[in-house]
Amino acid sequence: MTVREYRNEADACVMIFNLLCENGDTLFKPITAERFEELFLDPSIGPAVFVGYEGDRVIAFGAGNCAGETGYITYIGVLPEYRRRGYGKAIAEKLEGALAGAHPEMKKIELVFYNPTELPWFIPGHAPHDHAGQPGVDMSTAAYPFYESLGYRAWTVQNTYYLPLSEYRTPDEMARRLESLRENGIEITYYDGSRHGGFSELFDNIGNEGWRRRVMARLDEDIVVAVKDGKVIGYTGPLSVSKEGRGLFCGIAVRTEYRHHGIGKALFAGLCKGLSEKGATFMSLFTGDNNPARYVYESAGFGIVRSFATMRKIIRKKEKDTMCIFCEIVAGNIPSNKVYEDEKILAFRDINPQAPTHIVVIPKEHIPDMNGINAENSGLIAHIFETIPKIAAAEGLKNGYRVISNCGPDACQSVKHIHFHILGGTQMADKMA
Ligand code: 5GP
Ligand code: ZN
Repeated sequence: MTVREYRNEADACVMIFNLLCENGDTLFKPITAERFEELFLDPSIGPAVFVGYEGDRVIAFGAGNCAGETGYITYIGVLPEYRRRGYGKAIAEKLEGALAGAHPEMKKIELVFYNPTELPWFIPGHAPHDHAGQPGVDMSTAAYPFYESLGYRAWTVQNTYYLPLSEYRTPDEMARRLESLRENGIEITYYDGSRHGGFSELFDNIGNEGWRRRVMARLDEDIVVAVKDGKVIGYTGPLSVSKEGRGLFCGIAVRTEYRHHGIGKALFAGLCKGLSEKGATFMSLFTGDNNPARYVYESAGFGIVRSFATMRKIIRKKEKDTMCIFCEIVAGNIPSNKVYEDEKILAFRDINPQAPTHIVVIPKEHIPDMNGINAENSGLIAHIFETIPKIAAAEGLKNGYRVISNCGPDACQSVKHIHFHILGGTQMADKMA
């Protein structure tokens, strides 16, 4: 077994890449030799490519890149008859070593959607439409345990949803929901500026300036809205259809006081119907495993076709004060007994519990303590407080609980990464300090 730096083996690499596509080992779109060089050897991305030889035959290759603190592994492929011989591992280690050597500022290597090298891929079982880079490591393939065995840890799970739209029918349950909304004075319809007001207030309410900018500039296009008393209380759209038949939209939102009535689901079903009528043949969506948006998609008829894990391995620790114990827990370098996790926050059982239930809730981003909260990160803290009642409920803390955050030496803060203790399961002392 020999693994060495890429010289000019593009044709052999392309042959491997395309064979694994054909075999269904990967979901990637086949490439050409020219494309190979553009994708994997672009000097602006700090590329690294290694090739595995068995004698003088190229039987494996791997590619990655790095342009800052984060390196990426883009691809590792081994011909089927040469698997389980350590080629994949040897290539991964060469890539990690080369990237770390060439980029002293690199701290971690990831397998994620944000990789600057976007390998187009197809959703299996349907007409092959291009999708941009994969959202992570396909959890249904051997790649997932392979990267785990190399020390990469899953950090979020992204589900891919697909819905054929050519013959889209509003699900029966949804038709009933629309009827009941109508009885309550809520209509799902296309936006009509001459009859409907309150669009701008909707964005004030939900506080999403990006959507405001993009949607308010396209009010003359078809936008599905939920309207009550002439006022827009929710929207999705504008509806558009790409050349290949993909249904597109820009955001979905419902005013906070109208949530939990199924209006989001109704809007989304209206979107699917509208897109189908405009000639869209399919829609694909990506969303985090614990993002409640999934229930909106699922109620419109979407099904999960694949799940992808975003994975990460820490190569060099950050400066002492930012790579603390809790950052290590987030990175998966120190094990913890997790009770809740989403893209932004993590909750786990305290190693030294002070009550029958003692859970620590932290933002994944390192904020040293309460004094580090500012306008930019306060949304994260709000999200923690929105989640605490859910965690408490899941823990069965029906009779109440106490939330504590220690800040600084007087409060005996021992881990300098902001955290909130949830304590419960017993009658606590009346005196707090
Ligand atoms: P503080 O004293 O800073 O408010 O709270 C820090 C908490 O983190 C303590 O209750 C301590 O028991 C907990 N802790 C420290 N290290 C670990 C760890 O490695 N794992 C877990 N699960 N908890 C930890
Ligand atoms: Zn930290």
